[in-house]
Amino acid sequence: MQGLSERTTGFTDSVIRRMTRVSLQYGAVNLSQGFPDFEPPKEILERLAQVAHEDFHQYSITWGAQNFREALAAKQSHYMGHTVDPNSEIVTTCGSTEAMMAAMMTVTNPGDKVIIFSPFYENYGADTILSGAEPIYVPLVPPDFYFDPEVLEEAFRQHPKALVLCNPSNPCGKVFTREELSFIATLAQKYDAYVITDEVYEHIVYAPHQHTYFAALPGMWERTLSCSSLSKTYSITGWRLGYIIAPPEIIDRAKKVHDFLTVGAAAPLQEAVIPGLQFGQDYYDDLLAKYSHKKELFLNGLDDLRILHTDPEGAYYVLLDISEFGYDSDLEFCEKLARDVGVGAVPGSSFFREPVNHLIRLHFAKKDETILEALNRLEQLRKKIPPKKRAV
Ligand code: GLN
Repeated sequence: MQGLSERTTGFTDSVIRRMTRVSLQYGAVNLSQGFPDFEPPKEILERLAQVAHEDFHQYSITWGAQNFREALAAKQSHYMGHTVDPNSEIVTTCGSTEAMMAAMMTVTNPGDKVIIFSPFYENYGADTILSGAEPIYVPLVPPDFYFDPEVLEEAFRQHPKALVLCNPSNPCGKVFTREELSFIATLAQKYDAYVITDEVYEHIVYAPHQHTYFAALPGMWERTLSCSSLSKTYSITGWRLGYIIAPPEIIDRAKKVHDFLTVGAAAPLQEAVIPGLQFGQDYYDDLLAKYSHKKELFLNGLDDLRILHTDPEGAYYVLLDISEFGYDSDLEFCEKLARDVGVGAVPGSSFFREPVNHLIRLHFAKKDETILEALNRLEQLRKKIPPKKRAV
């Protein structure tokens, strides 16, 4: 028999999703794959119950149900500070995962280069490979996760077709400053590149940091494909509702890519989430207050345990420094952590292009009791996994 596709030969399964399965296997508190264990807003759930008895069981318009796009356009116009047209400037997708893939396929030809900051959310590498594009990685250097402007410009000198911008950033929690984004914008203009954003944590940005929508920067609307989702904002990761917002010429093409990939996102769910899209500012303030509290709870607990960690400016991930345990493989460490300590984490190496294996990622999008249970188990960490002196 002939071999299967060459472009997918190098694929491993997603380590993030694998660690959820490992956590289940060992009964570990799963702080690996980032999703909440608390309920979505009741307004959305109540509408979901009604929708079951209404007429939303067949395909919606492929690029998104009219009601959904109108509600989304109103909300995003408000937050992005740019009037978004619900008919020509939105494609509704199956999560931001499809949005990013469709955006990449809309923009790139096989052989095109795409800049990706490292560490990065693992799908971006796969997205470029599936589109036949070639990633150029630009490091965000720990512990502060700044990029070197000269290194970034050097990457642009290779004339990439696009740059992928995850802001707020998964896994490092970086929120790009307006100055950093303006610098990226200058290069995007100078070297004529598109920018594909992933802004799924747009409403989870801790004070004093602020989220700047890249598309809202001067001159950037024309060249930005803003991808995001409703998963994190409304705690509905299983609903798989995402979108691309971009100018009509780009969306016209993205609609076709999306149509051939998936036809459409689930019609009843698009309808049921509309009360969420219509929430006022109070909802987003409460969401942020909730995550600020959880962040404090988790980070204080880690401090008490003398575990070194990052302090995220946005999103809900923390990178823990495991250098003291002297493991060459962070994957092996995470498996041991799930099995012997009972806490699920993602090895940092699945996010870094550079050979980084002293960091693991945990998240705090969980009920307080779940966070406390994880901290409780982590008290046994050094007993169950004795620290080693690192060979010099
Ligand atoms: N964004 C989440 C994470 O990084 C998971 C998303 C997913 O698995 N689709 O863990």
